[in-house]
Amino acid sequence: MENSLTTSAEGPSGTALPYRVKIAVSALGLIALAGALAAAPFTPIGVGYVLVLAFAVFVAPRMTLQLSGSNLTLSFSDAVVFFTFIVYGGELAVITAFVETFANCVYLKKRRKESPKFFVLFNASLSALIVAATYGVVELFSRAVYGSAFIDLRLTDTRTLAAVLGLIALTHFFFSSAFAAFYQKLRTHGSFLEIWKTHCVSSALTHFTGAGVAGATYKVFNYGDVALGVISFVVVAVAYINYRTLINDINRSIASVEEAERQKADAERQRAEVEKTRRKEAESYAEELCRSLEKEARANDALRKSERELQHAASHDSLTGLSNRKHLGDVLRELIAAYKQDSAATFQVLFLDIRSFKNINDTLGHSIGDKVLSVAAKRFSRVVNAEDTVARIGGDEFAIVLRGLATAGKAQKVARKIHRNITQPFSLAGNRVSIDVNIGIAPCDTEYDSPEEILRDADIAMHYAKERKDGPAVFTKELRHRFLERVRFEMDLRHAVERNELSMHYQPIVSLIDGRLAGFEALLRWHHPEFGMIPPNKFIPIAESSDLIQPITNWILLETTKQLASWQRISPDYGDLEMSVNIAGRHLSSDDLSDQVEDALESSGIRPETLKLEITESTAMENAERSILLLNRLKSLGVKLSIDDFGTGYSSLSYLHRLPFDTLKIDRSFVSGVGERGENSGILQTIVSLGTNLKMRMVAEGIETEAQLAMLRNLGCDFGQGYLFSKPKPAEEMEKLLYARHMWFPSQKDSAIELHSDSDTQHHIPLF
Ligand code: C2E
Ligand code: MG
Ligand code: MG
Repeated sequence: MENSLTTSAEGPSGTALPYRVKIAVSALGLIALAGALAAAPFTPIGVGYVLVLAFAVFVAPRMTLQLSGSNLTLSFSDAVVFFTFIVYGGELAVITAFVETFANCVYLKKRRKESPKFFVLFNASLSALIVAATYGVVELFSRAVYGSAFIDLRLTDTRTLAAVLGLIALTHFFFSSAFAAFYQKLRTHGSFLEIWKTHCVSSALTHFTGAGVAGATYKVFNYGDVALGVISFVVVAVAYINYRTLINDINRSIASVEEAERQKADAERQRAEVEKTRRKEAESYAEELCRSLEKEARANDALRKSERELQHAASHDSLTGLSNRKHLGDVLRELIAAYKQDSAATFQVLFLDIRSFKNINDTLGHSIGDKVLSVAAKRFSRVVNAEDTVARIGGDEFAIVLRGLATAGKAQKVARKIHRNITQPFSLAGNRVSIDVNIGIAPCDTEYDSPEEILRDADIAMHYAKERKDGPAVFTKELRHRFLERVRFEMDLRHAVERNELSMHYQPIVSLIDGRLAGFEALLRWHHPEFGMIPPNKFIPIAESSDLIQPITNWILLETTKQLASWQRISPDYGDLEMSVNIAGRHLSSDDLSDQVEDALESSGIRPETLKLEITESTAMENAERSILLLNRLKSLGVKLSIDDFGTGYSSLSYLHRLPFDTLKIDRSFVSGVGERGENSGILQTIVSLGTNLKMRMVAEGIETEAQLAMLRNLGCDFGQGYLFSKPKPAEEMEKLLYARHMWFPSQKDSAIELHSDSDTQHHIPLF
């Protein structure tokens, strides 16, 4: 049997062993081999040894059986060496060991893919060295125990044979295992004893098996019984084949177990990989889920934000950022309900309207108009408390809900503060702007069921404040009555024209120089079917605010020019009679007016200069620059223009001379104050001299007394109008007077014929 430890100690990693050890071992082995070759008794060597050597070289290496998974290697190498030992002596055993190991290593080297350096030489030398050492020990033992050299021992004696073979096997095992353990220690640096116990002891079996096989073979050959030899050979061959089959079976089952284990390991690995893949998939799914959740969360945030923005946009005004009408409605609804439950939950509603905001838009443009609204919104918000609500409810209309204010008086205080604040001038894009507001106040009341009701009443109060021009107004039931009446009037007025309820009265305008009739002022009258005659001061503002004034004035223009044309035809004396028609401010700024005037002139056929349009001073001055434009356009039609109610409209003198008026009508209030002895005529004098300087004709309104007439004549006022001459009369009555050649000066009435028959003498007739 072969020294398995020698071969197993020298694996591919043997190259790592120090070369010194390898070289030393190889050298000693070669010395041992050389010694053996020198001392070997070659003469008696015959065919037998050659066969043994051939067996060792060609057969033994191929008969090696390695038990899978163990260090145990069964081979016939040791058996061949031990057999040679006992048959041919130690020297040939050394040579056989060298040759056999050499052949074995060459055979192994061919089967292995790689081998360490000196693999063949080193192992063969080592093998020779160990056998030489064994031979030395056995030789010493033989001389000591049997008193003769080993070669002379009678090994036919079984006991001697057993003892010698046992010693050979033991010594060989000792040297080979010790050397293998020593090698292992060099490589691993482990404990020598541990390595020997773990890796080397098991090889003892192969040694003693080899010794057994060698002894048995020796016995067979020693008896010289060929038949026994053949039988023994067959038995050994059969035993070997059985043994080999068994080993192969064991190896196969070990291999199948290993294969199964490998498959199991593969399956486990695959399972682990599947698990890993699944885990990775799960992880990436979880990540994906996380990402989509985050995305969803972001989308939800954005949605909530846009919802909030939408809600804000739905309840707020985009220009000013204030609450809108809808939001105000929600707030008021809650407050109304709360006040019905608890009378301590008081509140007040302010309705605010920016005065003449249209003018700001018209003159400065809409973008400045928007900025003005924003400034107003900021100022409103600044004055009130945080819990109050400021809302924009229309173009220039705002509302403020003041919470916790018990009385309207307190609300008025806040309103006045707002008013003071808002009227502070500010500059916008280089323009100095000042605004004003009309404020109406509606206090909370259990009678309110909806926000619209309380807002309506605050609006009524605001309109009253606008008319009165005396600061914030508080809503009262009386105001509502007036408002309802106004609404009623407005509705009725819409149908007044078609129902022929409107008619014209004419009041003469008389020359103050000679009492000659210069013309008429056309004054509108409304015969209401229920309320009778309604004065123009009451319904004209309604007509203006509801845009009814334009169709009505158009009708007046057509009606009065037609009337004038007919009266001008009565007599050549009346050919120059003029008709003065009042034009409302609202109508003046509309584009239709000049067309309507043109139509009236055309359809009546009167000369344009006999039509006079009266525009009040306050209307003309409200936006003087624009008035200049509009009046010039009218002027270009050839008509005359008259500034009405002069003295009440805060004229700017710089504009007055630029406005293309022909006539100045002194307001009645300056005339009515003049007493019997001419008292209070100071302003009148000033106005007359102003008119004279402006080169305008002057008409004094409201002359009721002869003293007033005398005073005006003395001042040099050109024309007069008043009850002293005639009240406004319907067309038929006026026509009768025309035909009758009525004398308009009271003192002239007796000399009417004379006055009108000789126009040249008119100026010399004494009037008083
Ligand atoms: P106004 O244009 O200043 O008209 C003169 C007003 O003074 C008239 O009042 C006339 O009746 C009144 N009056 C004339 N003489 C006297 C007098 O000696 N004593 C008194 N106490 N009053 C006198 P009326 O007709 O009530 O008109 C009032 C105002 O209504 C007019 O003032 C004018 O502003 C407006 N108005 C009248 N008719 C029209 C019209 O057709 N269109 C427009 N837009 N406004 C008109
Ligand atoms: Mg007038
Ligand atoms: Mg007037």
